[in-house]
This record gives sequence, structure tokens and C-alpha cells, in this order.
Amino acid sequence: MPSACIAPSEQTGGLEFTPDSSYLQLSNPGNEAYASIDGDRMKRLVEQQTDIAQRYRQAGNQFWGRIIGTSADSETADWMMVQLRESGVENVRLDSIPLPTQWLPQSWQLTVELDGKATQLTSAWPAYGSVGTSGAGAKLELIDVGLGMATDFQGRDVSGKAVVLHSIATSSTVFNSVRRIGALQRAEQLGAAAIFIVLELPGNLQTAFYDVGTSVPTFSIGSADGAILQRLLTDAALTEPVEIDLQFEVDYVDGLSTSSVRGEVLAASPDAEKIVIVAHRDAYFEGAADNASGVATALELMRYFAQIPKADRKRTVEIIGTPGHHNIARTGFTWLFENRESILDKAVLLINAEHTAHALVDRFGDDLCTTNAIGPFSWQINGSNKLAEITLQAFDDFGIPRWAETGGPVGEIRTIADLVPSIVLMHAGILLHTNIETTEAIPAASLAATTRAYAKIIEQVNSMSHSELTQ
Ligand SMILES: [Zn+2]
Repeated sequence: MPSACIAPSEQTGGLEFTPDSSYLQLSNPGNEAYASIDGDRMKRLVEQQTDIAQRYRQAGNQFWGRIIGTSADSETADWMMVQLRESGVENVRLDSIPLPTQWLPQSWQLTVELDGKATQLTSAWPAYGSVGTSGAGAKLELIDVGLGMATDFQGRDVSGKAVVLHSIATSSTVFNSVRRIGALQRAEQLGAAAIFIVLELPGNLQTAFYDVGTSVPTFSIGSADGAILQRLLTDAALTEPVEIDLQFEVDYVDGLSTSSVRGEVLAASPDAEKIVIVAHRDAYFEGAADNASGVATALELMRYFAQIPKADRKRTVEIIGTPGHHNIARTGFTWLFENRESILDKAVLLINAEHTAHALVDRFGDDLCTTNAIGPFSWQINGSNKLAEITLQAFDDFGIPRWAETGGPVGEIRTIADLVPSIVLMHAGILLHTNIETTEAIPAASLAATTRAYAKIIEQVNSMSHSELTQ
């Protein structure tokens, strides 16, 4: 039988996931009403978004994804509007948002000499916001300081060198030990000329860090490429420096814009209250969970509520496909905050549809192992005990594994989540911000479970008054 566990790299491709039909699912009596919320259809919506990212990559963009301000961003917005119109959603429109100067890496290359041959570190990925090198690039002496703790730096001269740090990923790539212990700042204060963070996950993953706040070129590299550097440094005679050739060109682009995609399923009464569903549109790499899954959930909810006869609609349901936050300006956060009064006018509930589905990926030794289980989610609820009760009950009814207690990130709605009753269910699984967070990693069953739970929550909320939701 094929092994569930591999060390993913360019050689192996991504992970092999089990067929959609084999995921464990809970079918509780009373939930049949939500059967029309279709996991397979949502999975196709995920795929169409990952296709946009792949097309952008194939157009020659080394730094790829559905990157804010690029053609992949506007293509995602246009695609989303088509989906909404096809579902019968009204007032489908774009709010255009001008962007400040955008950081856009153009090209990079990290080369070492291995067994007499020039060898590229193919997993290298620039950390968000990192500065580039001069046109000629830089040839730097390598030094490895382990985990980058204060004691690791004792007696080591890192000044003017390319400093290699090893980081332990503590949830996904976004949270890792180098960031937690301040190793980047330590390296920089001691004069590092470049920093390479070997993210010690199995295989040779490309991983996108959030802004690291350094002022020298900073990259993540996969553990297999990290092992090449280890070998070079341990094989070299003590007196002989090991060098790396670094080329990194970054553009700072003015005059770009992005957008929020808006649409509504209108209630019977023109002055009805409303429910707002936010899903950020941007992504690194394919971003199948982050956040093609959330966009698919939001779109499917709109389709579901658009099918209810208008006369029976108590509250308007509004969707906002926001630009997202994977840029220096964190455009989605600021746009939501600046427009909070109009966005939240008459809103009784705000839902963040973000990373709404994933498969549980386990770790075993040097490998990652796929499973037939939906991965667990963290959650946060702002509002009355009654709102919390019905929300958690709905999550449980649809078999959504979740943290026992509240916690985790708030994501795109973080600047406005406390202003009205709000719900966040999301995950930061091990594949987040990696090049193998692909469509295959998103079980249709997980998309269906989360989206059905939200539909049920919205229907129950619609029989509650604003004060019942807040007190
Ligand atoms: Zn996200």
C-alpha cells in the first residue's frame, strides 16, 4: 500500500490526500435541510481560485499567488462577481481601493557550489517585506548559528555574513521559534548581511513568512536545502569560508489598486437589519485554505440564502470579498476599520469566512502524513452566551473538530470584530503559507461542514433580536 507519509519536496510534489469520499463525517438527524450546501461544488470554487494563482505563476511571476494589487487580484475579484451574479445575488459591485507603495519581489536566486557544481536553493522564498540586493547581487560568507538563541551567538562573528538560523514551526509556518525568541533582531544587531531561516518542517517546502521587520535580505528555506548548507559548512576546512551567491530584486510599485467585492441577498423589508460575511481574497501560492476555502464558503452561503423567497427573508445577507492582509499595508484590516460605520450599519452579526476547511496533516519523524480526518479549528465569538451556545452547538452538530476553548487568530476582521456580534472559525494548520497548500488539501466534507454550520447559525440568529445577540 502507498505510504501516507512523505517528506514533500520538488521531487515528490505535494502530499497525496485521500479521496473526498473517505473523510470521516458526522450526519446528525435534523441537518438534512442543509444538504443543498454542496462540498463538491465549493471544492470546484477553491480550484478555480487556485487556477488563477497558477496562471499568474505561469505568466512568469516568481513571487506568485493571488497577490494584492496584481492581475491575479483583479482576476479573483472579477471571478467572484461572476459567481455572485450567477447565484442571483443583488447589488454586485466593486469598491476600488488605492494602494500605497507595494513591495513586489521580481526575482531571486540563491546559489552555492556543491561538489564542484553551481547549485540553487530552490525552496528559497523572500520573507514578506524583505529588502533586495543591489543589481550585482552579493557574495557572502555563510555562518550557521543554530536556533539563534543568545548563547548560539556567543563567540561567533556574524558581521557582514549570511546568517543561517534554524526555526521550529510551532503551528504553521507563521508561528515559529526564530520569530518567538527574537533571533532575527539578534542577527541583525550583530551585523548580519543577510538572513536565511531554515524552517525545520519535513521535506523542502517553500514557505511565506509574515513581515519579519529586518533591514537585510531575509529568506525562508526548506529543511532539505538547509541540510545542503550544513553539509557545505561541515565539509569545509575551518580556514576556508563557504560562500553563497545571493541575487534578489524587489520592486516598490506605486499607483496600484485593489478592491472589495460586495453583494447582497436583500431582505423583504428595505430597512431590515443585516448579517455580514467577510472573506479575504488574497493568498500566497495556491492558498487553497488561505483563503480560497473561506471565499468558497462565503459564496456558497450567498447562493443558499438567495434561493430563499424574498418575502421570507428577515435580514439582508451581505458578502464582502476584501483585499486581504498579505501585504505590508495590511489593506484589508485598514479598509474594514476605515469603513466600519457603513459596513456595520444595521449589522447584527459579522462572520469571518477564513481558512474554513482543511485536512488534518500529522507529523511522523521526517515526514508529513495525510489522514482521513478534517483538521481542527480555533474559534472566537463576540456576543451573548446564547449566540455562543447556538454557534458551538452548530459546529458540533456538523462534526467540526475544534479547540475545547476559545482562542486563536481573528484574521481579516480583527479591526472590527469587537464592534458587533461576530464569529470566527479558522485554522492555522501546518500547510498554511506553504507551496503545498493545494486544492487536494481541502476536503469537500470540511467545506460542507463549516458552511452548513454557518447557514444554520444564520437561520437561528434570524429568530433572535439584536439585544439577544449582544446581552
Ligand atoms: Zn487568511
